[in-house]
Amino acid sequence: MTPLETEQIEKLAYFIKASNNTVFFGGAGISTESGIPDFRSEHGLYRAKQVYGHSPEELLSYTFFKHEPERFFHYYRENLIARDAKPNSAHIILAKLEQAGKLQTVITQNIDGLHQAAGSQKVLELHGSNWRQYCIKCGEKYSLDYILRQENIPTCVKCGGIVRPDVVLYQEGLDDVVMEAAIQAITQAKLLIVSGTSLAVYPAAGLLRWFSGDTLVLINKSPTPADSTASLVIRDSIGKVLRAVYQHFDCHC
Ligand code: ZN
Repeated sequence: MTPLETEQIEKLAYFIKASNNTVFFGGAGISTESGIPDFRSEHGLYRAKQVYGHSPEELLSYTFFKHEPERFFHYYRENLIARDAKPNSAHIILAKLEQAGKLQTVITQNIDGLHQAAGSQKVLELHGSNWRQYCIKCGEKYSLDYILRQENIPTCVKCGGIVRPDVVLYQEGLDDVVMEAAIQAITQAKLLIVSGTSLAVYPAAGLLRWFSGDTLVLINKSPTPADSTASLVIRDSIGKVLRAVYQHFDCHC
């Protein structure tokens, strides 16, 4: 580690130790370190255009789901489900920090359930979860395996309605209850750590406006619009950073 990197890690460890209310807000960059591709990346965009003739935003829109459900589910199964992905160091250390009382809430834009798989309890999923499915007609709940087992358009055994993933599609609004809880968590936070997001996608990106705590930390490989307002900006892998930070905690949590 360079002297600058060491100094940044020490700073972040100090911030976490000193804070009695810390919130972590993460985007796709957290999951890419578990091998889950970001469908919004340049490669994801190219693949979607080449194979389906549409952008990922079009393919994952409510209009597309409504009018071309068969192609919607084809794209969804192929590109948004990583059944075998495992939590990486970032997920694991965030869960340990929560157990140690040093992290109050994780807010995520990801739908892969990896924070919960790592053991995090308080997770707010802004965009829903692909582990949950429901019938659009009668509301019956289904597992992820259910839609993976069915070919083409998955349907409800009770009423024949389409069974869809409980994720927020483009053109759909975020869940009010989750959004309220996220706003409350950020409003109360003293330390906010943001990582793996370009902070370009609204309304999730707008959540930062609610933060009035002392310390904002950004851990991102590329610049974001919030860099100038942060107390600390680290340009590195989140897994690597949190592993190094965790060395400064002597709890065996
Ligand atoms: Zn049904």
